[in-house]
Amino acid sequence: MRLDFDNRFVNELPGDQSGLLQSRLTPGACWAAAHPSQVAKPRLLAYSREVAELLDLQDEQIRSEEFLNAFSGNRLLPGMSPYAARYGGHQFGSWAGQLGDGRAISLGEIVNSRGQRWELQLKGAGATPYSRRADGRAVLRSSLREFLCSEAMHHLGIPTTRALSLIATGDPVVRDMFYDGNPIMEPGAIVCRVSSSFIRFGNFEILASYGERDLLNRLISFTIDRDFPEISTQSEDRYAIWFRTVCEGTASLVAEWLRVGFVHGVMNTDNMSILGLTIDYGPYGWVDNFDPGWTPNTTDADWRRYALANQPSISRWNLERLAEALETAFPSRSILDEGLAHFDEKLQENLSSMLTAKFGLARTQDEDASLIEDAFELMHRASVDMTEFFRSLAKVKRHTPDLSLLKGAFYQEDLYRDHEAKFDAWLGRYCARLSGQSDEDEERRLRMNAVNPRFVPRNYLAQQAIDAAMQNDMTVLEKLMEAARRPYDEDIPPELTAKRPDWALDKPGCSMLSCSS
Ligand code: AMP
Ligand code: MG
Repeated sequence: MRLDFDNRFVNELPGDQSGLLQSRLTPGACWAAAHPSQVAKPRLLAYSREVAELLDLQDEQIRSEEFLNAFSGNRLLPGMSPYAARYGGHQFGSWAGQLGDGRAISLGEIVNSRGQRWELQLKGAGATPYSRRADGRAVLRSSLREFLCSEAMHHLGIPTTRALSLIATGDPVVRDMFYDGNPIMEPGAIVCRVSSSFIRFGNFEILASYGERDLLNRLISFTIDRDFPEISTQSEDRYAIWFRTVCEGTASLVAEWLRVGFVHGVMNTDNMSILGLTIDYGPYGWVDNFDPGWTPNTTDADWRRYALANQPSISRWNLERLAEALETAFPSRSILDEGLAHFDEKLQENLSSMLTAKFGLARTQDEDASLIEDAFELMHRASVDMTEFFRSLAKVKRHTPDLSLLKGAFYQEDLYRDHEAKFDAWLGRYCARLSGQSDEDEERRLRMNAVNPRFVPRNYLAQQAIDAAMQNDMTVLEKLMEAARRPYDEDIPPELTAKRPDWALDKPGCSMLSCSS
């Protein structure tokens, strides 16, 4: 197997090359050399053929012994230069100091036959200097969730890091899933994630917090050169353009999450990609019954800082922390404030065009705001499934408003009856609004179905794939991956589009997830 490595991050930025794995601070470095630890009995559980293609890898190569050894961390391939990145972060609103890749080890950056650069990173491959007191490992359940969701997100058309492979290590990992004093042994796994960049807001924050100004400038220059090649090196205001682009990417990402009902769950600044990618899949979730205050993360259950509808304002807050970190390197603070103002503008634009499209409205009109708001308010009060609602709404005929078309989106018969009259009235307004536009119902249905997915990897579905994988049965994951490849198609197997069943309401992994992974 030949991969062409060109490891710019480690070649162009200073690192701690001692190779020592003990936990420590690494001032003056953007990374620390790290070596994956050996695993007992690696076994390939799943891989993404689309990501394999990005890396010019053939099926036979992925199924080879060489691949298994390399992507479980047991034997490096020529050209790999493994490292863990140094970053800090604001966690749940407070500065947490140095964090860093505590259980992610980048193997290197490859350039594929089309000249695209992809960094390969093993998550769960063992301790690094940033592991603090933790083990650097990951359990099968969280690794499977990351593998599945990265690829599902990509096929939904939403920027994300990708996942090449899911490998069982054969080594047990001890985890106390709900931090309640009940640790158990769980199977360990390693995901190979793939991204053009793994740089996070936190990579800049750590340098600013240590007053490492020169290094901060170097990292900014490096990031623009490698990850934002469209920004000309000659341009005098390249810093301004860059920060504006970062703000734009973040504004676009968060609107996309809301479009599909995704809750990241841990939007700490160390989990914010500089490229506006979805990164670090932990206790994430997909909203079933629409609830703006919903979060799957039990660690955030009281405060709900990272709940569904808070994600836009949290993105803004995170960008403000990034702006503070960049301040000393930037020619003026006003450039950063302009970037933040640009975020506000773009976010509003994106949300409004996203909602217009979700409802199948031909163009954005100010008068539509209340129609849209009222729909979400009713969905919340009557406990209506968001994904199902929008697919059903697409079927409505404007001249014959028929509420029964939406009935399948309700979870509870009594709530349906209680809200029937209000939904009827809303549907009347909606159909009246549609009558003012010139497209046919069928055209509108197709447009709506292109932005409202039929399939999202609901939490309970992922949990079913985990339960099966724990019994060495990978067929459930394979089925989910097939559906994830075409999330907007109508003919997804019905068992994969069913609303959350009642048994999933209080089953761990389905509606409650912790950061333990
Ligand atoms: P996360 O909540 O996954 O974004 O992680 C926050 C920080 O904790 C990052 O620096 C991670 O690398 C680190 N971390 C999380 N889990 C582990 C683990 N099992 N071993 C070592 N470091 C970890
Ligand atoms: Mg993280």
